[in-house]
Order: sequence, then structure tokens, then C-alpha cells
Amino acid sequence: MAETLVYACAGEPPSHGDWVEVPLGRRRVLGLVLDSSASASEPAPHGIDPERIRDICGRIQGLPPMDPEWIRFITFAARYYRRPLGTILVGLVPKWLRDLGNFTPRGKRAVSSLERLLTETGLTADASHCLSNSYQEPALTSAQQTTLAELRSPGVHVLHGVTGSGKTRSYTELARNILHANPSSQVLVMVPEIGLTPQLVERFRRAFPDVPPVILHSEITERERAKVWLLTASGKARLVIGTRLSIMTPIPQLRLVVVDEEHDPSYKQQEGMRYSARDLAVWRSRQLGITLVLGSATPSIETWAQIARGRYTRHRLADRATGEPPAPIRIIDTLRDPAREGLSEESRGAIARVLGEGGQVMVFLNRRGYAPVLSCSSCGWSSNCPECGVAVVLHRQFAANAARGGNGLWQLQCHHCGLTAPVPRQCPDCGDPDLQPIGRGVQRLEQTLTEAFPQARVLRIDRDTVRQGKALDEKIARIEAGEVYIVAGTQMLAKGHDFARMRLVVVADSDARLLNPDFRAPERLFATLIQVAGRAGRHGHSGSPAEVLIQTRYPQHPLYGYLSRQDVDGFAKAEMKERGTAGLPPYVHMAAIRASHADARRIQSALKDLREQLREHSAGEGWAVSIHGPVPRYPEVLAGRWRGQLLLEAASRADLHRLLAVSAFWVDGNRSFDPHLDIDPLEV
Ligand code: ADP
Ligand code: ZN
Ligand code: ZN
Repeated sequence: MAETLVYACAGEPPSHGDWVEVPLGRRRVLGLVLDSSASASEPAPHGIDPERIRDICGRIQGLPPMDPEWIRFITFAARYYRRPLGTILVGLVPKWLRDLGNFTPRGKRAVSSLERLLTETGLTADASHCLSNSYQEPALTSAQQTTLAELRSPGVHVLHGVTGSGKTRSYTELARNILHANPSSQVLVMVPEIGLTPQLVERFRRAFPDVPPVILHSEITERERAKVWLLTASGKARLVIGTRLSIMTPIPQLRLVVVDEEHDPSYKQQEGMRYSARDLAVWRSRQLGITLVLGSATPSIETWAQIARGRYTRHRLADRATGEPPAPIRIIDTLRDPAREGLSEESRGAIARVLGEGGQVMVFLNRRGYAPVLSCSSCGWSSNCPECGVAVVLHRQFAANAARGGNGLWQLQCHHCGLTAPVPRQCPDCGDPDLQPIGRGVQRLEQTLTEAFPQARVLRIDRDTVRQGKALDEKIARIEAGEVYIVAGTQMLAKGHDFARMRLVVVADSDARLLNPDFRAPERLFATLIQVAGRAGRHGHSGSPAEVLIQTRYPQHPLYGYLSRQDVDGFAKAEMKERGTAGLPPYVHMAAIRASHADARRIQSALKDLREQLREHSAGEGWAVSIHGPVPRYPEVLAGRWRGQLLLEAASRADLHRLLAVSAFWVDGNRSFDPHLDIDPLEV
């Protein structure tokens, strides 16, 4: 696909950043003008037959022109992630706005859909929001004050604050300064997943009643997205809260960017242009010379490495803003105190005690469904996905049915390809009807808790009970209202929630993640556990002290040592050292060339050939890039296709990118392998 297209224009040429309507094949489409400098007397650009250059159809009114800095930013991103610029630029415009039919009045209507949308957004009116101080936030602590003074200078600042130290409070204060300083300035606050952070959005709403934030994420309607885009690109929306894609949005008067939970893997886009929104935020803030705040209780190892190099500045908020001490973390050895039905005696005792004192309990198990495998006790058959070859998970569909005396509705689900199947009545291999669920998911844990603590009322929070933000809001409200006393859930529970009565957090089982071979697995697990632990004892209370219990078969594992000492810095140092020794990112730069095909041997041999070509090429050029593979991805087979990858590693980013440019030809020429490049991949 061509990077950009060339058109001719009669009369006054449009300028860089203008929107135009152009012919493309038989259609008319939206186009963005990048360069209008060439005049008719000059020869046509290289390789283009002048006879075939078509005229633009006209300029588009109503869409704000794009500022050059934004175009430069997107150009950088497209180059860095090796994607065609033209496709990326236009692809960033909401679909609704790419539909030119919305721009012309249709039928009896005198106004176009776009005009109606513009009126709705108030874009045609000219009122600018002024800030009032109608809502009083808590006065800053002295630690917050000191930190905020430092954050005001442009640059990349890491706000390393323990959970509850007032990071969010600091963001609102910084935003207030910026919005006050200049009546047109805009602020972008990025969060990992909107649905999981309703409390943050709510706090911004309350802090700025006169500057309603626009919310940008992937689950809004196309028309809503168009509206948000227009508000943002025109400079009208002064406060933008969004997920990773919001970094790509034109925000012409951007003066502050906050990336909350900067270590969160969801900042990495996993399809199309596989960008890291955090990394792009760094580039964008440097380009504009503005403040970027990367907030986290557990900064990513990438971020730590940049701090060590002096490129980012770290600011520590070491104590909770409420003055509450952090809840101590205790490791429970389940070889000594076995986890009967998933819970050790000690955990059961602690839960009973806290419930007796009127406190709430959170039990964490990051595994969806009832049991990870269904297995035959006579022949050893186990439930596997016919498409992917990995175990399919036993799910219980409607808890409500259980009350009717039935068994509930059971189903097998593949968590990779989404395939669902009924549970067989008997073993498909030997016919034995005695099929047993093996292991434990959060649904089974919920059942155990309900049986063991019948008075407490148990609420489960996971992707199966919470599909949208609203469902989560409701559940949070039920917890806050004290309707339920035990919350059982997956990773979803970890994020930012602030429950006043939460006194005890039990981590039922995180050993599987401890043993995961991905080199980033320990970093992720540590971050999650610190975050989960941070839910306990955030506010003062009477009764026994808040605590965090972690059940494990590997109590001696160093990760649990750092965790029980709450030594985030120590863990990061050890992890950095290990990555350095092993030659892993961030100490080398990495990229993956991924491909898949129904025929495993064909794709493997194609990747081997490519590896040899690339090795030869980079040796010839003197580039120091090592090329490994092909190695399978996990799961190896997905939806019937074998998936493999080559991994490229280099100490020099420049060398790596030179070789990637060569690889891009292979990617373009081998569509049947459904190939893509992943630059700075998160999962390898
Ligand atoms: P974080 O984002 O670091 O988890 P928050 O900003 O959510 O921290 O603050 C945690 C809790 O402390 C919240 O209940 C918040 O209202 C409270 N808090 C934050 N800053 C202050 C302050 N300066 N004075 C009193 N309470 C504060
Ligand atoms: Zn069997
Ligand atoms: Zn599958």
C-alpha cells in the first residue's frame, strides 16, 4: 500500500493539515493534505505518471484543520512502528467522520448530519469554559505539595507513590494549574481501562464541575466518537480522559499528559499498529516541551531503566495520604497449611475474624471460570480446544439456576479462541460418566466462600459478571453500601478502588503466574499483588489491624520476599540486574516478526528462510542484530493456524530499525501468512 497519494488541484491550493475530498478508485474519500508545495510547472513526483494524477474534489468545511505538530507526531509513530502513514493518519479519524455522506444535506433535511452533530457539541457556539472553585478537594499534604512543585517543570516525571498516597489527588491539582494558567490549554489523562476506573473519572468530574471531561475509549458509539474527536481536535474539550488510543487524538493545545498506572500492559495496542501509548506519550510531551506524569506504585522496569539513565525524574510519595500505615503482607505456606477448597485454615480464621468485626474481605484469584480443566478420572482424558489444543475452561453459566436445586448450566469455554461447547455427559474416550473439574477458578472460589461464610454475602467480580463499566459501578456501589462483605474476583479487583471498610485481602493462588516462563511475568505479578494488597486498610477503623495474606506453595521465592517487605525498589533493582545479565529488554531492543498458517511446516520453513536472509543481510551491512527462531507463540495453534515468530534483538535501535525496514518487504509480500511486525513487543 502506498504511503501517501498525489492529487492535483485547480485554483488556490489547500494547506498542510486541511481536509479534502478526493477520488479513490470509484469512490470519493476523505483526505488529509500533507504537502501542497509542488506547483503544476514542476515535474510530477518520482514514479508517477502525470496523466494519471486526478484532481481533488474540494475542501471540507466543518472539520478542524490538523495542527502540524500532531501530523509530525503521527508521522513519527507510523515510521517507528513501520505502518503506512496515509492509512494511519486517515484511520485515526472516527469512521463516522470518514463517511462523507454525513457532510451533505440529504432528502428533505436542510442541514447535514455533521452540522447537527456540531450543533449538539456546541462547537458552533463560542462559549469557553471558565473554572470555578465550587468544589473543595482535600488540602494537599506537605509531601504532595513538595512533589507538585517539582512536577510543574516540563519533562518526564515518574510519580512513584504507594497506593493511596494521593497520586490521583496530585493529577487533579496539576490539571487545575494548567487549566487555570491559560484559557485554551488542554489536559490529557490516560488510564489503562475506562471501565475499571470509574472512581478516577468521577473524581475529575467532581473536581472540575465546569470543565466536563470528554471520555475517550473503544466502546463508545461511532457517532459519539466523532463528537468527542471534534470537541478535542477543535480545542473545545479541555479535559480529555481516555485509554491508550487517546494519545493518537489531535489535541492542539495539549499542555499536560498524565499516564496513570504507567506499568499497565493495556497501554500496548495488540493489533494493527502495535504501539505503546506510554512510549508515545513520552515522545509527544518532549515534542511539545510539556510535563508528562507517569504515575504508578510499581513503575515498569523500562521506566526504572530510564530513571537510572537520568532521562526521567522520579518523585516519591512514600506514605498514604490518609496517614494509615500500609497493611502488612504475610505469606502463607500451603504445604504446611493446605488450602482446603482453595483456602488455608489461617485464611479462613482471618476472614471469620474480620467479618466478626464488621469489616470487608477481598479474595483474589486471577483465573476466570469454575475450573481450568475437566478431566476423566479413569482414562485421564481432559477437555481441550480442538482449534487451539489448549485446555478449555469449565464455566458455570447462571448462578441463579443453582438456587432452583439444579446444577446450574455448565459450559466449556476456550479462553483463547472463544469457542464454547456443552459439557459432555461422559468421557468422549472411555465413556466413564465420572468427569471431574480439576483446579480452581474464581467461580469455584465463590462457591467455597458462600458455603463457608453463609451470612457474609459474596459478590464476584470478573469479566463474566462485569461486561461494561456500568455493571462495575453497580457492584462497587453495593460494596460501598455494605450489602456484601466478601468480594471474590480476578485482576479487575486490583485497580484503583478505594473501599473504606476493606480490612483483609487474601490472594488465593498466584503460583501459576510465578512459574510462567515469560520474562515479564514476575514484574507483572509483583505489580498486581502490590496493587491488590493496596486495597486493604486504606482508611482508619477500630478492630484488629488490616492485613494481606498470600497463599503459596513457594514461600521461599524471592518475589514473595520483596513483597512481604513491600520493597518495590529492591524488587526493581533485582529485576533490572537480571534483565541486564540475561540481555533482555530494556537493555536490548527487541522486535518480533509474527506469522501464522494452517500448515505448520510451511510457515516454519518460510520463517527459517527469512531468518537466513535477514542474518545474511545484516552481516553484509555490518548491523549487530541477532535473530532467533522460529519459536512458537502461546497458544501454538490458534483457530486452526500454527503461530510462530522470529525475535530480533539489538543493542542499537538504529540497527534494529534498519533490519526491520528489510523485514517489512517480507511482511508486505507474504499476506497468506497473515504476518505482522511487533516493535518493542510485550509478550514474547
Ligand atoms: P492514589 O491515586 O495514589 O491511590 P488517591 O489520590 O486516590 O491516591 O488518594 C487516596 C485516598 O486519600 C483517597 O481517599 C483520597 O481522597 C485521600 N487523599 C488524597 N489526598 C489527600 C489529602 N491531601 N488529604 C486528605 N486525604 C487525601
Ligand atoms: Zn475417560
Ligand atoms: Zn480455542
